[in-house]
Amino acid sequence: MANKNKENRIQFKLSDFLVKKLSFKNNVLLFGTNVSVNELSKITGISEVSLAISAGLDKTQINHILDDEQIAEIAIANNFEFEKIDDISEENVVSKILKIMAEKKWPKEVLIETRAPIITIMGHVDHGKTTLLDVIRKSHLTKKEVGGITQTIGAYQIEFNGKKLTFIDTPGHEAFTEMRANGSKVTDIAIIVVAADDALMPQTKESIDHAKAAGVPIIVAVNKMDVVGADMEKVIKQMAEYNVIAEQWGGDVPFVPISALKGEGIDKLMENLLLTAEVLELKAPTNILASGTVIESNIHKQKGNLISVIIQNGTLKVGDKLIVDDFMGNVKAMHDDNGKMIQEATPGTPVEIYGIGASPNVGSNFVVSIDKDTQKIADVIHNARLNRLRKRHGKSVEDLFALMENSKKSFNIILKADALGVLNAIAARVEQISSEDIEVKIIRKEVGEITSTDVILAEASNAHIYTFNTKTSQQIFALTKNKNINIFEFDIIYKLFEDIEDKINGLTEDKFEKIEIGRAIIKQIFNFSKIGKIAGSEVKKGVVKMNSLISIVRDGKNIFDGEIESLKIGKDSVKEVTVGRECGIVIKNLNIDIKEGDELIIQELVKK
Ligand code: GDP
Repeated sequence: MANKNKENRIQFKLSDFLVKKLSFKNNVLLFGTNVSVNELSKITGISEVSLAISAGLDKTQINHILDDEQIAEIAIANNFEFEKIDDISEENVVSKILKIMAEKKWPKEVLIETRAPIITIMGHVDHGKTTLLDVIRKSHLTKKEVGGITQTIGAYQIEFNGKKLTFIDTPGHEAFTEMRANGSKVTDIAIIVVAADDALMPQTKESIDHAKAAGVPIIVAVNKMDVVGADMEKVIKQMAEYNVIAEQWGGDVPFVPISALKGEGIDKLMENLLLTAEVLELKAPTNILASGTVIESNIHKQKGNLISVIIQNGTLKVGDKLIVDDFMGNVKAMHDDNGKMIQEATPGTPVEIYGIGASPNVGSNFVVSIDKDTQKIADVIHNARLNRLRKRHGKSVEDLFALMENSKKSFNIILKADALGVLNAIAARVEQISSEDIEVKIIRKEVGEITSTDVILAEASNAHIYTFNTKTSQQIFALTKNKNINIFEFDIIYKLFEDIEDKINGLTEDKFEKIEIGRAIIKQIFNFSKIGKIAGSEVKKGVVKMNSLISIVRDGKNIFDGEIESLKIGKDSVKEVTVGRECGIVIKNLNIDIKEGDELIIQELVKK
């Protein structure tokens, strides 16, 4: 314990990894949204007047916020490259750091050491995955003295021939897929279990697909060899049909006959795993701050939030601050897969951590930070996520329409009251207010005043906050300013109910339908390199309006539905273009190739 507080890890600043919204380096401009002429002038060194002119603006418009096309025009006129960067890239900062680390050439003082391979067992149901995981664990426990405390923390580590191996102990490919869906690559080697007395089954095929898609080497454990009628050759032949070619057949996949039930062939399997791991040369930096992946996330009644992680780089220590998803947490204590409390953990090791005050997603990456700015970075990530949620929560007409058509809308409420009895009574009544197409959802109910967490929740879930007999501080009102959050305060119960009923009835009446307002024909396509396509069009009928809905029709078939993102006549942004005129239309999220001659049908949503 003497070394507990000694910091011998090489540190780096997380903030260095954050993507800057606007930068100009080596003649390349990286930009996000909301870049003004004068901001651009500051970083490029080109005068404001010159920039304004090349963007087609008046030379006095130095505070003008440039749109993507104007930036493209400036870049072309001034001969520099440009690339639009995602404004919410902060959100991915943790995964990005891990990616950078994986490709990084570390300085000499960083120790790179061999780490334990991380192995996932996949295969069809009943082919013996769980039995295999059990037998491996029981027969090769690292610490014999612990005497069978088989605590599940989502993974365990064993030792074989003096080498460590880590097994993810959620059998099946769900966990594997979930982690991959979150962009994490945890597994180094996949064991696919196939029962020798059965045929190759649907989940065997899925497992092959998952392992191949992840690019991890496969070892086939041909299980149940003790059963009469077990046929290893048949398994080899069937697997070959899916391009998993056994070494015996000149391929590179080891097929190991085993009986998980009887514990036979397990050593051979271990030898093959170690051999494969050796070929992979799995190494990781050890004397840096830790990063890794969450493999389990639970809430325990007494212990609070518990998360299991696998360390991928560096050393994790008790007392570390880490960022995972969009929050910061403290490592108050941790234990290994044998339930033993430990002070630090190195790459390849699974550990369970206490003290993280929230539940991250399985598959999320974490990084340890000792930046003073850790909380700030977590906030940046959090805000980026909120922005994305906000965008997603039906701000566009298109989304709104989809929402109306497909689902019952919900009216989300956060309820606060001065006492528990009255709170429960209000909640019970409020939940019954739902109408035919709107459901009232109480997403949080709590005794006490509105807190800043309530405001954050309201913002993320488009909720309204209702209070009964509580006071709301000026700070809270200040927090909600400029955000789309409403606070409704009541001290008479039935008025609160009436208010919700009125709002719901108001919403109910808002039924929309699409009405055609104009048609246009694409006459020419302009490609603005990284910005996308502009449809140079002539309005043939009615009117084209900014933000209206648009459908693209080719050969009589509707090939795309979307929304107009920008509308211009020449270089001027306009609100609408009438029949007979030509205009440039940029279509939001356009993912098809548009062509000259395509017909554009312009529609608006109107209340029924
Ligand atoms: P999972 O669904 O893939 O996790 O499969 P299980 O490990 O739960 O095993 C399914 C059944 O097959 C259980 O009844 C096991 O006892 C049995 N089993 C597993 N391995 C063997 C084996 O090597 N030989 C025999 N005879 N039975 C086995």
